[in-house]
Amino acid sequence: MFKNLIAGEWLDGHAVSRNINPSDTRDLVGEYAQADVAQADLAISAASAAFPAWSLSTPQQRFDILDTVGTEILARRAELGDLLAREEGKTLPEAIGEVARAGYIFKFFAGEALRPGGESLPSVRPGVGIEVTREAIGVVGLITPWNFPIAIPAWKIAPALAYGNCVVFKPADLVPGSAWALAEILSRSGLPAGVFNLVMGRGSIVGEKLLNDPRVAGISFTGSVATGQKVAAACINRADGRMAKFQLEMGGKNPMIVLDDADLGVAVNAAVNSGFFSTGQRCTASSRLIVTEGIHDRFIAAMVERMKTLKVDDARKAGTDIGPVVDANQLGQDVDYLGIAQGEGGKLAQGGERIDRNADGAPGFYLAPALITDTTPDMRINREEVFGPVVSVLRARDYEHALALSNDTPFGLAAGIATTSLKHATHFKRHSQAGMVMVNLPTAGVDYHVPFGGRKGSSYGPREQGRHAAEFYTTVKTAYTQA
Ligand code: NAD
Repeated sequence: MFKNLIAGEWLDGHAVSRNINPSDTRDLVGEYAQADVAQADLAISAASAAFPAWSLSTPQQRFDILDTVGTEILARRAELGDLLAREEGKTLPEAIGEVARAGYIFKFFAGEALRPGGESLPSVRPGVGIEVTREAIGVVGLITPWNFPIAIPAWKIAPALAYGNCVVFKPADLVPGSAWALAEILSRSGLPAGVFNLVMGRGSIVGEKLLNDPRVAGISFTGSVATGQKVAAACINRADGRMAKFQLEMGGKNPMIVLDDADLGVAVNAAVNSGFFSTGQRCTASSRLIVTEGIHDRFIAAMVERMKTLKVDDARKAGTDIGPVVDANQLGQDVDYLGIAQGEGGKLAQGGERIDRNADGAPGFYLAPALITDTTPDMRINREEVFGPVVSVLRARDYEHALALSNDTPFGLAAGIATTSLKHATHFKRHSQAGMVMVNLPTAGVDYHVPFGGRKGSSYGPREQGRHAAEFYTTVKTAYTQA
């Protein structure tokens, strides 16, 4: 059984969760301890006790630890990628890529530990000097979703530690394996006991404890909008009046525009990649394709031809393009939305079949990627996040109409355009209401050293990743000195 890490000790939980391989539901990845409120409390106590010393640790100490962790993750990328593909269902190349990303994130923040920065300014008063510095915020609670089981934990844990915070990490219930492997690496990295704690368990138990405990100074959350709203409310309405700083990364309904002047091959590649790869289970997936009249029919025909070639099979098998959906609940949601979209008038142009068994006869949660055409902006398929391999198509008159449709959404995470027009690409970069904009590229798949995040209903608070991560994980101090 895989245990929780609290105050440097591996502890049994009060219950056990079974981690099942969605490519073959007969395969048990492992049994993982589930913490209760008392254990979450213990982890918060351990992190609080470790904070004074860790917040004053040297940049060299933090660099060495984070660099060691990054090196080990990169060296073990094939093995950890296999575990990730087995528990979450993205293909092996995608999973290995995600693990490598996690390794590079630790390397990046190792460097950031050496570059804390700060400003020195003269005062408006004679003889007075001012220093503006950044300090760690304290104990942070990190709550992550199932779709990036190692990269999202890495992009929260690495900056938290680099800037001197102590961590209580609650991974997603469905995918504790990669989180546990990361915690095990951290446990041997030289971190003092209590600086990093792993508490696997239910959101309604461990998660809510983190939100409500006044010793937790900040919550970094990635997940659904519904849970994000609960996080925000809890962080503001704490019983003792001490609010927690919070950062939310939530859902998307990301548009990709295809203009008449697009290179058809570029447009299809970008749409297939960001619509269907990782089984469409990416917050940055292109789930709305907005296509202008002149290219519409040719684009749909090319998409359908390409989709017929996509191999849906075991995530770890060579040649698989699309692995299974993560679990039965998510599969049920995907299938429901296919029905809803067709009930509202959409046409299923390709895919959408439930596949009970893979090519080797193993039972799993497979779904053929689906394209729904002839949709209108008010349909639920164009307003609500499905979070599966289900993409809708909207027809647009021209660029201006396409831009308006792309921004007509409660979300604002990522947006893309396929065009050979510099004028339209430039205009779109400025006028898209998304936090991340791509030209002739998939909306999903971003670099690890630059800010990540969205607007409107997709995000709240400072950006994650890159140097912008300091905004959340530090607080600014202004010191005045009379010489
Ligand atoms: P979820 O909201 O169900 O769960 C996210 C995390 O919150 C889990 O660890 C869960 O246990 C925890 N949680 C649940 N209830 C809680 C509560 N009451 N208090 C505290 N914690 C609680 O999301 P999910 O199904 O795991 O992930 C899918 C969602 O994540 C999608 O909406 C997707 O768009 C989003 N996502 C967003 C980004 C981004 O950066 N914007 C990245 C990846 C995924």
